[in-house]
Amino acid sequence: MSDPLQVVCPHCDAINRVPAARLAERPVCGACKGALFTGKPVALDEARFRRHLRASSVPLLVDFWASWCGPCQAMAPQFEAAARVLEPAMRLVKVSTEDAPALAQEMAIRSIPTLALFRGGAEVARQAGATGTAQIVAWARQAAA
Ligand SMILES: [Zn+2]
Repeated sequence: MSDPLQVVCPHCDAINRVPAARLAERPVCGACKGALFTGKPVALDEARFRRHLRASSVPLLVDFWASWCGPCQAMAPQFEAAARVLEPAMRLVKVSTEDAPALAQEMAIRSIPTLALFRGGAEVARQAGATGTAQIVAWARQAAA
């Protein structure tokens, strides 16, 4: 477990190598010097999502949402609060199905909001429907275990 993790920068998408033991020490990006974890979900378009999915050793918890979706709006602050709890063990990401329709189709997103957890580039769990912060945290931790 001493191998460094690959952490994709939420600002410039540079791939950083961070020892697992130092994840919690507020690591910064070697390229742009921004914080690698900001305690907030990162909004990604399709190309950026694919890069993070391919390169990140940190599990990605993705909120597939759309601006017209009321339950998605209701869950947004819950998801944001979950980011403060789950980082840096996970990277929380938001993908708009309006901006990335091909990706949503490829991922077979049939209802929104849908939460999906990816580890090592592969989906390991998903859950449809709006839910609260505590439920998001518990579900994600169980799914990533
Ligand atoms: Zn950066």
